[in-house]
Amino acid sequence: MTTSVDSFADLGLSDSLLKTLAEIGYESPSPIQAECIPVLLEGHDLIGMAQTGTGKTAAFALPLMEQIDVRLTKPQALILTPTRELAIQVAEALQSYAKNLPGFHVLPIYGGQSYTIQLKQLARGAHVIVGTPGRVMDHLERKTLNLDCLKTMVLDEADEMLRMGFIDDVEWILERTPEQHQTALFSATMPEQIRRVAQKYLVEPREIKIKAATATVAAIRQVYWQVSGMHKLDALTRILEVEEDFDAAIIFVRTKNATVELADKLAARGYAAAALNGDLNQQMRERVIEQLKSGALDIVIATDVAARGIDVPRVSHVVNYDIPYDTEAYVHRIGRTGRAGRTGNAILFVAPREIRMLRTIERATRQPIAPLTLPSRADVTNKRVADFKGKVAEVLNAEGLDFFANIVSQIAEEQDIGVEEVAAALCQMAQEGKPLQIPGEDPVARPAFRDERRPASFGERDSKPRFEDRGERPRFEGRGDKPRFEERSERPRFDDKPKRSAPSSDMVRYRIDVGRDHGVQVKDIVGAIANEAGIESRFIGRIGLYDESSTVELPAGMPAEAANALKRTRVRGVPINLRPDEGRPDAGGERTFKKKPYAER
Ligand code: ADP
Ligand code: MG
Repeated sequence: MTTSVDSFADLGLSDSLLKTLAEIGYESPSPIQAECIPVLLEGHDLIGMAQTGTGKTAAFALPLMEQIDVRLTKPQALILTPTRELAIQVAEALQSYAKNLPGFHVLPIYGGQSYTIQLKQLARGAHVIVGTPGRVMDHLERKTLNLDCLKTMVLDEADEMLRMGFIDDVEWILERTPEQHQTALFSATMPEQIRRVAQKYLVEPREIKIKAATATVAAIRQVYWQVSGMHKLDALTRILEVEEDFDAAIIFVRTKNATVELADKLAARGYAAAALNGDLNQQMRERVIEQLKSGALDIVIATDVAARGIDVPRVSHVVNYDIPYDTEAYVHRIGRTGRAGRTGNAILFVAPREIRMLRTIERATRQPIAPLTLPSRADVTNKRVADFKGKVAEVLNAEGLDFFANIVSQIAEEQDIGVEEVAAALCQMAQEGKPLQIPGEDPVARPAFRDERRPASFGERDSKPRFEDRGERPRFEGRGDKPRFEERSERPRFDDKPKRSAPSSDMVRYRIDVGRDHGVQVKDIVGAIANEAGIESRFIGRIGLYDESSTVELPAGMPAEAANALKRTRVRGVPINLRPDEGRPDAGGERTFKKKPYAER
């Protein structure tokens, strides 16, 4: 770890929040949390640079929550995020941190959601607003959002907001916030424009940067599996079952609660597994390690802190079930295997949104991490059959089988069947409850890292099941209040990526009132539409830029709510007034962009 701080208690947080963190199973602060929390508690402005998955949400959310006066039912903190998924995710995180803060209310607001509902929720009074720039701007203009009592402002994933064309909106909002407040800006990278915004709107900010230190790792086989198509637990057991040379494993997760949960689940599947976390006293901890050494346990599920320094030579595998916060943690973790001159194996589970961390680890350790293909059912069966044959062979070498051989002959004779059939029946008996074949079918794996370099913001950022089974169809998310568009749709679903090159009958061309004269770029239009109508960027078709207006192709069958949202959407401050495009393009001046994955444009 980059930091020596082991405990949230050292950071100056209140007892109530410390209690909550213990309850939700956070054992120790991540590096960005350890560095940012004290600075924010002191009231400084802050620039935080760290990648996805490093725990930035808690880094700003916990100090911010210390400042909330629950009796004052006015927004006291505003968090801007580039996408609706992030807004929801951050709001959910805050809600979970507010477990012991009765009456606390956080409200996500984002495009595509009904105004009526948002207005009602705003009127009811929320302490923290988490929103996308466009929608927040809208509410400020309509005066339905009042920031007079604002104490904290957070720009989360500022570089992403820039990339999606929201930076003007962000500035517009910053200009309308009261003078006296704390501002924190988080970004994975620091492009010039973000630096400029920071200089203009932040007051003597402290800058905190979590660097990826380079490190050498021992000769360990390193592989990763991209989490998709199958539950992590099922994937884990499948992988462990067919891994060659498996002896014992340490599995790393993020929270104490997760260590216990996973240990229970593995035990239920027949593994000798136990949890190792900071709740165990020294004696219990040593006992677990002793059991792992002696072979009484094969799998230990641990948090980073609890597993520090474990030296058990028979650990053949380290599994990063949850990705570590930084490369140092990764190096520490995988150092638990490959000890005493033995070969070690490190397996890393990577969710789509964590791909950047994978690349950083590769860079820092100067070693490629190879993708792992999930073993198929047949692979598992073959392995189980091979093991079974091995066991039978062992028994065949043993003495004293005559007695049983005699019984087999008797059965064959009495039943008038061959010895083979008797043997088959005995195999069945021997394997009762331990089938050699996995029932069901292999899940169809989703393509690995499709559009890898596109910012993950258009839907994939959220790895929760909410979005899991929604496949490749265009998404209009009317959350909650209305049935989802796709559930009402009778049109054929996309079963593959839409072909963008040829205008498709599934696409409708719309005209909008912003064009080159407004300084608009394709990315501004894509960003605004993606957010306001909840359409993943790759389903946005061709965009034609003219001087005063533009055209954009969107999937047919847009629900009224999304269409309404888009009428009011602004790009560069100009209402776009989206409507079906009639007639032909203006004479000349058209520049057509055949869309490429977002990040490539
Ligand atoms: P980022 O915003 O940097 O991408 P998040 O704040 O979304 O990262 O955190 C990533 C995950 O790590 C979340 O599931 C969060 O609950 C978890 N997490 C964050 N901090 C801790 C911690 N100190 N201990 C355990 N889990 C944590
Ligand atoms: Mg985040």
